[in-house]
Amino acid sequence: MTKIDGHIHSPYCPHGTKDPFEKYIEQAIQLGYTQITFTEHAPLPKGFVDTTPTMDSGMTRESLDLYLSDLKELQNRYSHKINILIGLEVDFIEGYEKETTDFLNTYGMVLDDSILSVHFLHNKNSWDCLDYSHEYFNRMLETYGSVDLIYDKYYDTVKKSILAELGNYKPKRIGHMTLVRKFQKLHKPTHSYEQETNDILKLIKEHDLQLDYNGAGLLKPYCQETYPSEDIIKKAKALNIPIIYGSDAHQAKDLNQGREKMLL
Ligand SMILES: [Zn+2]
Ligand SMILES: [Zn+2]
Repeated sequence: MTKIDGHIHSPYCPHGTKDPFEKYIEQAIQLGYTQITFTEHAPLPKGFVDTTPTMDSGMTRESLDLYLSDLKELQNRYSHKINILIGLEVDFIEGYEKETTDFLNTYGMVLDDSILSVHFLHNKNSWDCLDYSHEYFNRMLETYGSVDLIYDKYYDTVKKSILAELGNYKPKRIGHMTLVRKFQKLHKPTHSYEQETNDILKLIKEHDLQLDYNGAGLLKPYCQETYPSEDIIKKAKALNIPIIYGSDAHQAKDLNQGREKMLL
């Protein structure tokens, strides 16, 4: 039986923990995983300035080679116990498609499995990190004027990420497709956005992509559901979209998070 976690961070995450790779790997083996993908936040595109207060959304470009060579070594060392895939969580940032394509054309050939995620929303001449904190989300509300307008922009950006060219090494999996709901207990939109999420599933299907079924949201106090939620997962299954569990662990003890409550 295969047991997969396709979304794991690492000691190279600037906002994560320093838990060494081995700690994640040993824990995953303990939990019975047969395949895991490390998907560290890729370096942000050239020229893009991280707008988060801590400026730590992606790993540095300087550390990328070391991340990849560490993983190559671990992949070999643990090959008899667990299948380790080398990946990245690549940001889709509207306006930086060219830089992202250049990046993927440079590194894509050494990646086994990657995720494309939207964390930043383009607004005039600035980009806001949607999931940074609820205080930050509050500031976005002042700029956007309503929760609905943030949701509109988010789902629109996810659609763009699916439609974007990004070259031959474009990631095959869409990360946490309802991340905008991270603070839903504090800020509710006026409608369900069912049409938008249906449209996104349809696009994922048409473009032969996979869906990250992310357990992290269940543990977030203002979210309390997976990304995406069960109703959306049921529709994705009906469409035969490949669904890959992701713990989105930023520390070894978060592996497997949410999993027992999920439709896997
Ligand atoms: Zn992260
Ligand atoms: Zn993410």
